[in-house]
Amino acid sequence: MSLWTRNETVPVIVGGVTIGGGAPVVVQSMTNTDTADAAGTAAQVAELTRAGSELVRVTVNNEAAARSIPEVVARLRDTGAYVPIIGDFHYNGHLLLTRHPECARELAKYRINPGNVGTKRRDANFSEIVRVAAEYDKPIRIGVNWGSLDQRLLTELMDANSRRPEPRNAREVLLEAMVESAVRSAVLAEETGLGHDRIVLSAKVSSVPDLISVYRMLSERSDLPLHLGLTEAGIGMKGIVATTTALSPLLMEGIGDTVRVSLTPRPGGDRTEEVRVAQQVLQSLGIRSFEPQVTSCPGCGRTTSTLFQDMAEDITGYIRDKMPEWRTLHPGVEELEVAVMGCVVNGPGESRHANLGISLPGTAEDPKAPVYVDGQHVKTLQGEGLVEEFKRILDDYVARRY
Ligand code: SF4
Repeated sequence: MSLWTRNETVPVIVGGVTIGGGAPVVVQSMTNTDTADAAGTAAQVAELTRAGSELVRVTVNNEAAARSIPEVVARLRDTGAYVPIIGDFHYNGHLLLTRHPECARELAKYRINPGNVGTKRRDANFSEIVRVAAEYDKPIRIGVNWGSLDQRLLTELMDANSRRPEPRNAREVLLEAMVESAVRSAVLAEETGLGHDRIVLSAKVSSVPDLISVYRMLSERSDLPLHLGLTEAGIGMKGIVATTTALSPLLMEGIGDTVRVSLTPRPGGDRTEEVRVAQQVLQSLGIRSFEPQVTSCPGCGRTTSTLFQDMAEDITGYIRDKMPEWRTLHPGVEELEVAVMGCVVNGPGESRHANLGISLPGTAEDPKAPVYVDGQHVKTLQGEGLVEEFKRILDDYVARRY
């Protein structure tokens, strides 16, 4: 049973996808192509969508990028891989959205960073974007980031803090300023004419403890849905571990209505990794299911062959390859649990807990592999062809059960 409970937030609909209001936590991602390259951007959006991204954000940083948006969307519709596209605006969003009405119309949501909308005309530029959003009936995300925090607001709060009898430390004031920036910007957006159900908030930092603190504060201050993510999480294992560590306690407290994992891809690396990590975080917490899970033991001195490691990897890859077909033909298959275990110590027990499990023989054990289906020992495999036979049992189980 999941320990997860969900904070109540206002539902915001983004191009047909609901964020908040008790809807399933939405997985989103962001492209790293030049948006002016419509073909390349549409191809990456389609790739992220196939991996399971339910919203995709693209940068809209100049005139060429804004002009490209209608073509990106048209190409996606042509390929059948349509997903709501969010435009990421900094500095010149008010200009791009007013000069390029087709861009404003085709985007499903606008992300505005209140720290990056200008200094002298900050509120006027922010309100201009909000007016466009209201005109085209688009939701916005007010995305505060500590790397670009509104300095005027930070100074105001630092000054107020210095007058307190017991001033807080600078870090606490900085986090308070992030929350304040998000909340005040939401008030300004509503005063400018945007509905309460058209605003999503985020306040991202790159430190795990700070992220947890700032989102707890934000969730106490607002009933708007929250976009959750650790900004600039990093590369490889560091990024994955830091993101998981930050998101998990918040999600388990019911904080977060949509997530994005901001991994730095290796040069030429696979951008869809950020989607798979987000899905795995949600699935590991028991919040959503995306694909069957393969449980395998780490192996130890009782396994001198790599058979169970090879088999666990083989079965994981097999399931991933089959999922596009299974997802359509066998709804519910994403909840399937498969165990591939290395020896008799925990093998039969773990296999019985899974829908389908196999306990491979450890060193010096009888070279036989009992197979368990829904807790019952149904067959014993051995010899060459064992892995292929297990895949046949798996196919049969999926076809019968889902
Ligand atoms: S199940 Fe067996 S092989 Fe796997 S870790 Fe446990 S004792 Fe080692």
